[in-house]
Amino acid sequence: MISKSIEPLLENEETLLIRDLFAIPHRKMLTTRYDIAEKSTTREKLSLIDRNNSSSPSSLVLISIKLKKIIPLTISVLWVMILIRPLFAVDTTLIANSYSYSYSWLEPHKVIAGFIISLLVIILLTNSTSRKTNERLEDIYKKFEVMSALFSYEDDVLHDIQSGKEIRMYKQNEKMLKNIDKDNEFSKKIISENYKKMRLVSIASSGFFQTINYLIFAYLGVLVVVGAMPVAMIIQLSSAISQLITVFPQLFQNVMSVFSSPSTLNTYYDFMDMPDQEDNERLRKVLISESNQVEFKQVSFSYPDTEKLVLKNIDATFNFGKRYAIVGENGSGKSTFIKLLTRLYEPTSGVIEINKEDINKFEVGTYLDQLGVVFQDFQLPNFPLGQNLSTDITYDRNKANSLLERVNSKTFVETLPHSTDTVLGKEYDASGINMSGGQEQRLAIARSLYKGAKLLILDEPTAALDPLTEIEIFENFDSIAAGNTAVYISHRLSSTKFSDEILVFDKGEIVQRGSHEELSKIDGKYKELWNAQAQHYI
Ligand code: ADP
Repeated sequence: MISKSIEPLLENEETLLIRDLFAIPHRKMLTTRYDIAEKSTTREKLSLIDRNNSSSPSSLVLISIKLKKIIPLTISVLWVMILIRPLFAVDTTLIANSYSYSYSWLEPHKVIAGFIISLLVIILLTNSTSRKTNERLEDIYKKFEVMSALFSYEDDVLHDIQSGKEIRMYKQNEKMLKNIDKDNEFSKKIISENYKKMRLVSIASSGFFQTINYLIFAYLGVLVVVGAMPVAMIIQLSSAISQLITVFPQLFQNVMSVFSSPSTLNTYYDFMDMPDQEDNERLRKVLISESNQVEFKQVSFSYPDTEKLVLKNIDATFNFGKRYAIVGENGSGKSTFIKLLTRLYEPTSGVIEINKEDINKFEVGTYLDQLGVVFQDFQLPNFPLGQNLSTDITYDRNKANSLLERVNSKTFVETLPHSTDTVLGKEYDASGINMSGGQEQRLAIARSLYKGAKLLILDEPTAALDPLTEIEIFENFDSIAAGNTAVYISHRLSSTKFSDEILVFDKGEIVQRGSHEELSKIDGKYKELWNAQAQHYI
């Protein structure tokens, strides 16, 4: 009764716990330092945790279930102790009288002690058996890791509507289905191999278990036959002993498995121990400023686990209200420069300052509020348009409309079925809209302005734009950026004419700086790039 009455409570706790077990690592991924989160090994760890949570024999979820079982099992064991007490009051001299022999080893406390010892032996045996099974299964799951990673990747691709075109064009589904079949065959094979290995041990232990069970019943029978115990008592004792035999090993096993800290827990803890971006949050200041000056001082950088410096001794100052252009060939370090500025990575040497203070001194949230970056590969989630701008579940309609006007999207938004409440994309809403690259780009720019950033950075915005939209964005760039600082990163030089200063990147270094007029007159990288591109426009 007690067990049953606490069951709903435990079940509720367990549901909440399981939900947390899944959610916590995913939340962790969002706060982890970007350079770590970006690694494929980190992402693999997260999917391993998800897989363990749903399938592994020693997963945290199963441990929570085991923990839940411990409470009713303990209650059952205590109840058995109460039921078994009358056995100790049995007069064993009657056995001696009946068989004219002193069977002192048949005294109840000795028999019960023998019984408990035998039970412990069986339990230890079963426990080591199940540990071995678990270890073996862990190994099997390790072998599965690569397979499962491929399996879940292919499953994602098959379900992703964006891949639908290529899947049909190149019949990719056939290849993937073959892989899934191979995966199934492999899992069937190792699971049956494992079963064969464990079969012998489990048969032996269950035989041992049954023997002990029958011996104790025989003992109770003898006690009744010699008149040491009333027949009625045999019902109470045999049910108590049956219960003890069932629940005691289960209790022991559950307790042991909770404490044996299986390897999946290590994966979980390792993951949760990854450093967060804001680990020493308390040391940081809040940055609120109406105007900002940003300065790179002798900044060099190489990506983690690599030797090559992709940025070398960068010195650059961005003054408030000015327009800057960063140009250079692909791979010259332009995007890396933005990653350092947005604190996704830290410089290997040198310092970046905002208003003459190291950017690392500021709390990352308030620091990033000052920056509006439109990344080259920006993403607009499938939320309503207005929510995309505010990146919140509410938004200021007047502000949204005036920003849409600033980026020349007002007329387009007015044609939408639900204006700024229209959902972008059709992933979960059939009335959602698919936009052109140019419209998406304008919305991404509007989003960067919505938060009131003082430094606007457009990384290679021309990639998604047709020439007319590109010209239109350049021409409106002054009104888009308003009085703020703006940095325009591009490998198309026509976009740089509007800037106050152009920084020319080459192999991670700033090789030239100046206005378009200055740079186009002198021989150098800028002129070289300009001439090369001009040829294609003639
Ligand atoms: P750009 O934006 O000018 O095209 P990037 O800043 O993207 O250039 O790249 C500069 C160099 O850094 C390139 O050699 C590129 O291969 C390397 N790189 C970029 N991202 C990474 C990364 N995550 N890990 C290692 N190297 C990288």
